[in-house]
Amino acid sequence: QIQLEACAKTFDNTQVLEPFTLEIKGGETIVLLGPSGCGKTTLLRIIAGLEEVDKGGKILFDGEDVTSLPIEKRNIGMVFQSYALFPNMNVRDNIAYGLKVQKMKKEQIDIRVNEMLEMMNITNLAERRINQLSGGQCQRVALARAIATHPRVLLLDEPLSALDALLRNNLRVEINSLLKRLGITAIYVTHDQEEAMELGDRIVVMNSGKVSQIGTPIELYHQPSNNFTAEFIGTIN
Ligand code: ATP
Repeated sequence: QIQLEACAKTFDNTQVLEPFTLEIKGGETIVLLGPSGCGKTTLLRIIAGLEEVDKGGKILFDGEDVTSLPIEKRNIGMVFQSYALFPNMNVRDNIAYGLKVQKMKKEQIDIRVNEMLEMMNITNLAERRINQLSGGQCQRVALARAIATHPRVLLLDEPLSALDALLRNNLRVEINSLLKRLGITAIYVTHDQEEAMELGDRIVVMNSGKVSQIGTPIELYHQPSNNFTAEFIGTIN
């Protein structure tokens, strides 16, 4: 369970995120949806601990105040649009990296990495170097690495936007079933309405640093509370 209380962000006297409050249930997938520049990534970076929240904001993971904890102490998993993998390491070592940092024993690391390889259907790529993989394969490795440490929350920032349409659809379905099967609490940033509707238990529609509406996909579709939500959700074909 994650609580965000009055999380706001100001850069150089410009407020890019207005105070944002939300409670996320364990196992829930929250999608942050909105046009470019509306503050989605900033909010995600605040939750990750990559960006400091403005004074007065508070972030709690399972009741524990993590507001001033650095990223490595928050136990989060992250997947970005660009892969942020180690290009010269092989797949196995990339996935093992976070577990080594956690000082897990070698035998346990091997077991966990094999589990992840299997789960993401990349066992056959285990010994390949990252710079010998396709974009879709890289995102599979990034997901495997992000969930290997059993993070308290998985943060995904447009993980599919660099992939072609077919691959994007396939991976979207796979990510959805993975999140549900493992009961992972996830926050997923996208500007793609279709992706949001399929993945989100609830969707936060954002517009220039403000929340336009929060609701389930069905609520947003059938009962948009304002024109922005109606038009933004309504652009789905
Ligand atoms: P996109 O989908 O294009 O990534 P976004 O919704 O994720 O957009 P953010 O990246 O959160 O938007 O940016 C929100 C606003 O904050 C933008 O106007 C951006 O220029 C500004 N911003 C982000 N990071 C900084 C920074 N480090 N310094 C100053 N302004 C910033």
